Amino acid sequence: MKTLSILGSTGSIGTNTLRVTSSFPKEFRVVGLTGGKNVTLLAQQIEEVHPEIASSGDEHASAELQSLLRQRGYPMARTHFVSGMEGHIEVSCHPESSMVLSAISGAAGLVPTYRALELGKSIALANKETMVVAGELMMRKSREKNVEILPVDSEHNAIHQCLRGGQQKEVARLILTASGGPFRETPREKMSSVTLDQALNHPTWSMGRKITIDSATLMNKGLEVIEASRLFEVAAEKIHVVVHPQSVVHSMVEFMDGSVLAQLGLTDMRIAIQYALTYPERWNSPLPSLDIYQLPKLEFFEPDQEKFPCLSLAYRALQTGGTAPAALNAANEVAVEAFLNSGISYQEIPQIIESVLDAHSPKEATDLETVLNADAWAREEARVYCHSPRQAISG
Ligand code: NAD
Ligand code: MG
Repeated sequence: MKTLSILGSTGSIGTNTLRVTSSFPKEFRVVGLTGGKNVTLLAQQIEEVHPEIASSGDEHASAELQSLLRQRGYPMARTHFVSGMEGHIEVSCHPESSMVLSAISGAAGLVPTYRALELGKSIALANKETMVVAGELMMRKSREKNVEILPVDSEHNAIHQCLRGGQQKEVARLILTASGGPFRETPREKMSSVTLDQALNHPTWSMGRKITIDSATLMNKGLEVIEASRLFEVAAEKIHVVVHPQSVVHSMVEFMDGSVLAQLGLTDMRIAIQYALTYPERWNSPLPSLDIYQLPKLEFFEPDQEKFPCLSLAYRALQTGGTAPAALNAANEVAVEAFLNSGISYQEIPQIIESVLDAHSPKEATDLETVLNADAWAREEARVYCHSPRQAISG
């Protein structure tokens, strides 16, 4: 039986992970769960899986959660209740779980994931920001502990599968597919007036709000380029992004002999989650087969980097290296949060990130403290721009 802790269990990936584990009740035992503020959903999940440990966003949410469960007659002694970052770390490091599914959104997922890796637990990684902020540290630790980081992000999951068809040194390039987001066909001159509701309306995938905005700016693909470079140890020049609106081909690897391997599938994250949880085996899926005859025409386009400057900003941070990706990610998180709260416009997102990158003096990413300091610095810097973006940017 595989024992598992799920970080971010109340999110889009978290709930899909529980759907996967519940289809194999004899094979998986969920030891720990973490949620943020959605107490009602976390309570339901606790009633379903009876975890050893459960962590909520903060003490207040934990008190609310426990009172709700007590009212419903849950056997409280069954689960140990904790909260906040320390609580999430306790869940990821729980001695009874051998694997951690990391699906907190944003850099907040980094420390609990890294701590689990330090203990030699297998990591099924959805939280791409962890690899962007501390990819080199994660890879060093994974080699030291001899545990593989298994990507859940659909593109990286696809590449992981394709790489089983050749050796790392035979790779010519990685080809990451991107849906193109809701503004793929929006004319450049109309980009200044796009709204939050339009940005939240993703054409092919249903996901959390932060990653949905990242998909609309193409920063999601930018973060994925950095994630791919770290995970597969491939240089930026060998990572190409191609817009593929149908999201059927999840990514491709071109080998030096000219062969291109691709992975195709339904746009359902349960496939990638199940692959990561059952690797190196493959288990039956309860999902329907991909109906090849019903597929739409598959199209591939070059991304418009002028219309979507976030993609080039991510390449720039990757090429700069050191703490630059951590600064890029932190600035993006602050800008996206401000956009979600109607504090800035869509077009100010890349402007703020660029200003933060311009002001950043990158250091080598030698340890966790260094990258976390760069993250904290970039957040502060981005907040200043968010409060008076136009003035700060033009000045
Ligand atoms: P989501 O917003 O639906 O869920 C995020 C989860 O993290 C929730 O449980 C939330 O309570 C928790 N959380 C958020 N902020 C937190 C904080 N500061 N501290 C503790 N917990 C916090 O997000 P999602 O779409 O499930 O994405 C999760 C991660 O997976 C992201 O890194 C995203 O980029 C990645 N990912 C998601 C998808 C997808 O299809 N949704 C695909 C690929 C990668
Ligand atoms: Mg992805």
